[in-house]
Amino acid sequence: MHRGLPILLALAFCGCDDKPAGPAATPPPAPAELVHTPEFSGHNAYLHCAAICAMGPRYSGSEAYEQQLRYLEKHLHAAGWKTERNPFSAPNGVRMCNLRAFRSTSPAPLLISCHIDTKINVAPDFESADDGASGAAALLELARVTTDERIELIFLDGEEAFARSMSETDGLYGSRFDVARRGNQLPRWQINLDMVGGRNKTIAIPSLDTSDFMYAQYASAIQVLGLSEEKWTVWPGGYMDDHLPYLEAGVDSLNLIAVFSGTSWWHTSRDNMSRICPRSLHESGLVTLQLIRQLLSAGAEAAP
Ligand SMILES: [Zn+2]
Repeated sequence: MHRGLPILLALAFCGCDDKPAGPAATPPPAPAELVHTPEFSGHNAYLHCAAICAMGPRYSGSEAYEQQLRYLEKHLHAAGWKTERNPFSAPNGVRMCNLRAFRSTSPAPLLISCHIDTKINVAPDFESADDGASGAAALLELARVTTDERIELIFLDGEEAFARSMSETDGLYGSRFDVARRGNQLPRWQINLDMVGGRNKTIAIPSLDTSDFMYAQYASAIQVLGLSEEKWTVWPGGYMDDHLPYLEAGVDSLNLIAVFSGTSWWHTSRDNMSRICPRSLHESGLVTLQLIRQLLSAGAEAAP
């Protein structure tokens, strides 16, 4: 168990203000179109996030969920990725569908995941901007700048519970299905992104669910990028999230998730684009790319 990170360098990326995002807050304008820089662009991720939120609530089995799948496929194919839909049904009969993206049909050692379903029955104007769309947006932009065949992306359905709270039997449907579907062809590592676009967010990885090796990778990435130990820290416990089924199957997993418990916006209409910040998405993208570099080089060193 890890109780905190070592002393790290000063915050490098800031600038998103910390005003509370109430119903009256006006989202900043989205950039007009995608930019084609070689680096990860927080503005591109912001644009994807806004486009996904504009589809409305994207709960499992909804038309908006299907619309989101088509949007993801279009941009993944444009970036040179192959995709595969893995449909399945929840025990209550609700139709669900995970979306995989890969460059090689050989099993990839590194899986990067997010969930793209939104909690059902919140409100007609529920955008679920951070809890769902931000992870999908970050993965789409990662797909544009990442060509390594040792990476697979997966956009998971059914993370959200049907009941008010997640339980051992309600929630994580997509990740549980994916782990079972893979059998013994599991990746070596997984990075899960959840709520990675909020302004002035604090990422807190779950100490109970993080191996010493993965903790060292996280601490190193933060140090290399010069990020704040207060904004990239450790949660003293575990989370129920999409890393768990993989972790329980033996995958070394890292869950990059912002502090959400006890906040006033989580699972409400206030989780909207006014909470999302391009710089925050940019920072999350840079950390993920740094972790990718570290993990793949660690794997290369360990290879015979
Ligand atoms: Zn949620």
